[in-house]
Amino acid sequence: MRPLAFFFKKKYEALLNRIIPTSYYPTRPFNLNEVSMDDLIKQAADDLAAARNVVALTGAGISTESGIPPFRGKGGLWEKFDPMEIAHIDAFMRDPARVWNLLVKDLKETLDTASPNDGHKGLAKLEEMGKLTTVITQNIDGLHQAAGNTDVIEFHGSFAWQRCMDCSQKYETSKVDISEIPPRCSCGGILRPDAVFFGEMIPQDAMWRSRQAASDCDLMLVVGTSAVVQPAALMPVYAKESGAKVVEINPEKTPLTLEISDYLIMGKAGEVMNRIILALESKI
Ligand code: NAD
Ligand code: ZN
Repeated sequence: MRPLAFFFKKKYEALLNRIIPTSYYPTRPFNLNEVSMDDLIKQAADDLAAARNVVALTGAGISTESGIPPFRGKGGLWEKFDPMEIAHIDAFMRDPARVWNLLVKDLKETLDTASPNDGHKGLAKLEEMGKLTTVITQNIDGLHQAAGNTDVIEFHGSFAWQRCMDCSQKYETSKVDISEIPPRCSCGGILRPDAVFFGEMIPQDAMWRSRQAASDCDLMLVVGTSAVVQPAALMPVYAKESGAKVVEINPEKTPLTLEISDYLIMGKAGEVMNRIILALESKI
C-alpha cells in the first residue's frame, strides 16, 4: 500500500460517516495549466479504452447541469446556509418543519421535474459501450437510473420515497401533498426523506457493495464530488489501493486531486463527458 493511501485510510476509517474539513487533507501545490484540456481528454479516452472494469463515483456536481444545486462550490446551498447543520438528523429531529421548509420542499419541487444531463448520459453511454459496470452515487436524485445506468448504488439512499417516522409506511415523493409542512402519514406521523441525513449510518449493503466495486475496478471516474463527505470519499482511496487509475472531473480541485487521483479534468461534467465519449468512440 502506498504510504499516502495508508495515511488516508487510517485517518478516515476512524472518522467514518463524519464530515471532515478540507483543511485536514494534505495538499501539494501543482500547476493545473501544465497539461492542456485536449491532452487530458485524449488521456482519459486512452485510459478508458484500456480499462475493463470502470466504476464511477458521483456527487452533487454531476446534477448541477440538471438544475439541482450542490452543497459546496459555486451556486451551492452553502451560500445560503450550512447544509451540514440543516441536513443533519439532529436538526430534523429538533425541528422537522424547519428542515422541510429550508431544504426538503425545494428539493422535492426541483426533483419533480429534473431530467438527466450529458454527464449522466455519458456514464450511461459508457455502460452501453461495455466499459462501465457500476455507478456509486452520493446523489439522491435518481438521475443515473433515469439516464439508463442499471447498476447504481445509492450510497446516501434515495429521495424517491418519504418514510413515516412512526409506522415506517413509505410514500412516493412526487405524490406527497406538501400543502402542509411537515407532511404527515395517514397515522399522523411526520414524513422524512428515505435518504441518509448527515449523522446517520450508510446502509450496510450500499457500503459493502461500494467498497467491493471500488476494489474491483481498474479505473474509477470521480465526477462532481467535493470528496469531503465520508465515508463516500474513501472509495477512490480503495480503488487506488487496489491499483486502479483514478480520474477526476470537476471544475475545482478537491482533496483527492493529485494525491489520490491520477489527474483532474477541470471542467463541467456534461461538457467533459461529451468530449471523452467522442474521443473514445473514434478509437473503438
Ligand atoms: P458537494 O455539494 O459537496 O460538492 C459539489 C462538487 O461538484 C464541488 O466539488 C463542485 O466543484 C463540483 N461541481 C459543481 N458543478 C459541477 C459540474 N457542472 N460538473 C462537475 N462538477 C461540478 O457534493 P458532494 O461531494 O456530492 O457532497 C454533498 C452531499 O450532499 C452528498 O451526500 C450528496 O448526496 C448530497 N447532495 C445531493 C444532491 C443531489 O442528489 N443532486 C444535491 C445536493 C447535495
Ligand atoms: Zn405512519
